[in-house]
Amino acid sequence: MFYFSKSKYCDFKQCPKIPWLKKYKPEEYVLDAETQARFSAGNEVGDLAMGLFGEYVEVTSYKPDGSLDLDRMKELTRQYIAEGRENICEASFDYQGLYCAVDILKKNGDGYDIYEVKSSTSPEHYVYIVDTSYQKYVLQKCGVKVKNVYLVTINNKYVFDGVLDLRKFFKITDVTSLVEEELKTVEASLKEAEKVMASKEEPAIGLSESCDKPYPCPFFGYCTRNLPTPSVFQLYNFGFKKQLRLYHRGIFSYEDVLKDGSKLNEMRRRQVEYALEDKGTYIDQKGIGEFLQTLSYPLYFLDFETVQPVIPRYIGTRPYQQIPVQYSLHILKEPNGELEHREFLGRSEEDPRRALAERLVADIPADVCVLAYNKGFECHRLEELAEAFPDLSAHLLTVRDNIKDLLDPFQSGYYYNRAMGGSFSIKSVLPAIYPDDPELDYHNLEGVHDGGEAMELFPKLKDMPTEERTKAERNLLKYCELDTFAMVKVYEKLKSVV
Ligand code: SF4
Repeated sequence: MFYFSKSKYCDFKQCPKIPWLKKYKPEEYVLDAETQARFSAGNEVGDLAMGLFGEYVEVTSYKPDGSLDLDRMKELTRQYIAEGRENICEASFDYQGLYCAVDILKKNGDGYDIYEVKSSTSPEHYVYIVDTSYQKYVLQKCGVKVKNVYLVTINNKYVFDGVLDLRKFFKITDVTSLVEEELKTVEASLKEAEKVMASKEEPAIGLSESCDKPYPCPFFGYCTRNLPTPSVFQLYNFGFKKQLRLYHRGIFSYEDVLKDGSKLNEMRRRQVEYALEDKGTYIDQKGIGEFLQTLSYPLYFLDFETVQPVIPRYIGTRPYQQIPVQYSLHILKEPNGELEHREFLGRSEEDPRRALAERLVADIPADVCVLAYNKGFECHRLEELAEAFPDLSAHLLTVRDNIKDLLDPFQSGYYYNRAMGGSFSIKSVLPAIYPDDPELDYHNLEGVHDGGEAMELFPKLKDMPTEERTKAERNLLKYCELDTFAMVKVYEKLKSVV
């Protein structure tokens, strides 16, 4: 019998090879951090949405080994439908091996409405229509009269006032007519999927825009395994569509790129040329000198760490708002002076923003030169803090206005070597400038190695036993400290080359 689920169906519609590879070559699947974060946010939001229409029953059931008990879930769904329950969450159905669970099945007269919950802030994704069309198809085949189909997404304008209002937090969009259109294609797609999945032969499908749409494909590494390294898909900041265009013109390697005479801007040409041949370090002394002249002592090197909760926790914040919870600040008062360090880490059981803003205002005078790396991020956080705390606003906005971006000389192409691989993030620039320096190696940190890990750890602090918490806080502080220390070292290097 042919078994398929909603997620496999959506995979199939992205590219028929995805469910095939999941079945026959699961070891090639690579789950990236972004996809993982999307799954986690989806689960959190899904749980919250269950209460959207008041009282509900949930059918989710587990076997003793912790896996989902689908038979029990289907049985409970039948029972709750027979009992005429108003809202059934995770309502589960199976039509001849085609399985699906509906986030919220809501009674509507003699039929039901489907509510599909997404952690996205936009309902306008074709894949959502694909997803809900499959659900409607399965439910109808199971004899359920489906009247309307709705998408439940996040309203990013919603401002938390202390009590979460689910009706305002979620945005409900009627997609019944779009689903009706898409429904016409489901049966044919399923027939095709059955054929593909039954075959032991890998589908002969080449790279296309589907490899990146709607989500980056977890098998991209597998499907590009025979390409040279580096390939056009490593061209930094080039855009997947453009990379694909080169690929389809038979341009695979960096040599091909140069031979082709493709129009490349100066930066990208340098990335390609330096990757092919180690030309040492490219230095534009004039450009770097001009940048350094815009700075003045004392220098304050600033970096924020943030959390970005989908469900807002603090009054006055919105879903997915970046909340600064921590900063590190290195201060260099004069050339070759002693380096000072200040830091702040909020308490995760309360809104850390007020305490952070007050400390920041005390730590950074209004008239000093502040350096950030990719300053847009720090500037936005300062603006949001200024909006939240009008009494500190003037000082915070002056700090924002005084920020210079240490990324500028790299983005402007004044300093480059092949180890940067075309990327100018501090995590790429630092090891390229200071290779093999253990003091500057993020891998040598304990527990927290990047912003994503910091983001995940901070909300957990409040539930940790004291000893574990102390260690986790130390790891967070060390991580953030390295970010600004790295900036100081980058600054020193720039100074040393002019
Ligand atoms: S990488 Fe592209 S071709 Fe390969 S399975 Fe994914 S979507 Fe299909």
